[in-house]
Amino acid sequence: KHIDNATPEKVEAALKDGHFHAEIPAYEDFAAYRAAGGYEKLAELRKSGNWEKVQETVLASGLRGLGGAGFPSGRKWGFVRANPGIRYLAVNGDEGEPGTFKDRYYLERTPHLMLEGMLIAAWAVEAERSFIYMRDEYPAVLEILRREIAALEDAGIILKGEVELRRGAGAYICGEESAMIESIEGKRGIPRQRPPYVAAVGVFDRPTLVHNVETLHWVTRIVREGPEVLNSTEKNGRKGLRSYSVSGRVAKPGVYLLPAGSTITDIIEACGGMAEGHAFKAYQPGGPSSGLLPASMADIPLDFDTLQPHGTFIGSAAVVVLSDKDSAKAAALNMLRFFESESCGQCTPCRVGCEKAVKLMQADKWDADLLEDLCQVMGDASICGLGQAAPNPIRLTMKHFPDEV
Ligand code: SF4
Repeated sequence: KHIDNATPEKVEAALKDGHFHAEIPAYEDFAAYRAAGGYEKLAELRKSGNWEKVQETVLASGLRGLGGAGFPSGRKWGFVRANPGIRYLAVNGDEGEPGTFKDRYYLERTPHLMLEGMLIAAWAVEAERSFIYMRDEYPAVLEILRREIAALEDAGIILKGEVELRRGAGAYICGEESAMIESIEGKRGIPRQRPPYVAAVGVFDRPTLVHNVETLHWVTRIVREGPEVLNSTEKNGRKGLRSYSVSGRVAKPGVYLLPAGSTITDIIEACGGMAEGHAFKAYQPGGPSSGLLPASMADIPLDFDTLQPHGTFIGSAAVVVLSDKDSAKAAALNMLRFFESESCGQCTPCRVGCEKAVKLMQADKWDADLLEDLCQVMGDASICGLGQAAPNPIRLTMKHFPDEV
């Protein structure tokens, strides 16, 4: 049972029924989106659009993949189109990086910005079908998408079955694009060896364009409003906007759309400062894979590429703020426990490496040489990003919080 525009009374009544499933927040549905000019751009493009012009606009905006990899979005279109035959599109909605909730935020408010972006991208690469892979932990989003895909079918904007909604089943690794594709195909979600890349051999072995939810949200806005919607904002030498999912010891956690050159100081300020009684100590810039940075490194713009010299990355911009009441050592151990639990187990450096790291990190004093050896092997020899990035919390904690470990 779904409850629209839930109030405490409605929730209580549904709980008494025993069928409570999800609260559906008030969102912009098909009728409202259409009334505001939605899908006009898509119709125009389908009628007489030039895909290369749209690609140029997207490239000019500077849009990069917002699932974490940061690959220039428009360039992917060219790679997929270069492969002949039937093509597909897959939307990665498996927002499983701890601390990331921006895709949910947008889908629970303006789902059609993502849906129209998906159809524009599908048109650009001539994809026959689109698969939306959505995490099952977002029941309201799943229901919204079911309703709105049906509305698109009823309106004749898509054919029946042209867009398929696939539910994830709670595995973090299924957010990795090739594991997601395996899962869409009905198999166990484990990453594939590459090459071949998914642009050539993707869903059911067809060339596949994979985009994150928020990336597609921006495709619509860029196509409708022009590349300036992103590239006219500049801060600290960085262009564009970034949706930071902020949690931890801040006064008002949430999703904040800020200039891409924002530093942690700007982000904490946007969140109304630190939570009462907490002093800023450390932060995770982009999910557990990005590890922890100390408060002394508060002047780095948190964008793609800017964190590389510091041994980390922005990923999906899941910012978690720690305070003087938190232990960096305990946080790093927690991150590795997460990786140990979520490793798909396919390759030894990651499967065994995460388990060994957890054991070593439980010691009162960390064996730095042994841990560094382990990090080296995991980073060098793991198949996918999970095992390759799992050393980040270990290395950064040893470097920036030596007194704790
Ligand atoms: Fe699986 Fe880890 Fe290997 Fe990735 S690195 S394929 S998650 S075992």
